[in-house]
Amino acid sequence: MTTPPRALTIAGSDSGGGAGLQADLRTFFACGVHGLTAVTAVTVQNSLGVTGFTAIPAAVVAAQIEAVATDIGVQAAKTGMLATAEIIAAVAAACDRVHIGRGGAIPLVVDPVAASMHGDPLLRDDALDALRTELFPRATLITPNLDEVRLLTGIDVRSRDQQRDAAEALAEFGSRWVLVKGGHLWDDPECLDLLYDGTEFTELVGPRFAEVHTHGSGDTLASCITAALAKGNDVPSAVRAGKDFIVESVRHAYPLGAGVGPVSPLWRLPDAETFLAP
Ligand code: PLP
Repeated sequence: MTTPPRALTIAGSDSGGGAGLQADLRTFFACGVHGLTAVTAVTVQNSLGVTGFTAIPAAVVAAQIEAVATDIGVQAAKTGMLATAEIIAAVAAACDRVHIGRGGAIPLVVDPVAASMHGDPLLRDDALDALRTELFPRATLITPNLDEVRLLTGIDVRSRDQQRDAAEALAEFGSRWVLVKGGHLWDDPECLDLLYDGTEFTELVGPRFAEVHTHGSGDTLASCITAALAKGNDVPSAVRAGKDFIVESVRHAYPLGAGVGPVSPLWRLPDAETFLAP
């Protein structure tokens, strides 16, 4: 067997298995990429929401990144829930040491996770500034949703025009590319994600589903993009692949618990239901 490409997720654990590093690992697997993890926080979570989290010591997060990057090797990395400003600073420094991010050769996708879809905080308030100043300049791509856009820029996007304004404002923070996800533009009959490189806009249009089970959709999109980068795609083709992947994963979302179920990449394993059936 040849060794598959490796992708690293720097993210929090979701005990419900729908989002966070659990979503990232299953997306990496479905994309044919070996997943590595640097755990940043452990959330206490089920389909009804997040009731608390414990952050991992920043030095332990940095040590995980260095341990896997120096021995196993990483072709692309992503960040999800980072929890605290100390963790963000430690991640930025560790990424520099192992050449992850814009200064190095390994692409870095930054999903600026701030809260769950239920509104539960996943990032301490004082950490927003650390995201903007320490991580965005290192990012190959940032992938905010419209709630995160409002927190990061103050722009309350209500139209596709404002989505462009937000992309321009976010590009000022120094990432190479910006993807402003339009999933939360509820009045829009389609779901438009806007990719911006500081000069040109690319519109990625997909269907808007009535689906209520969308837990983990942001993580799944960003990790598919990261997997595609790990396989050697450029950013526009990785984002296109991610969009196609998340559309199918929302289509195949399933109910779980009494609340919101997860999007699912199981459609990539056509015999998943029959395999091991007695
Ligand atoms: N829990 C963890 C650990 C996450 O990283 C995220 C999102 O990135 C969530 C929960 C929230 O996911 P959602 O907003 O899809 O419910």
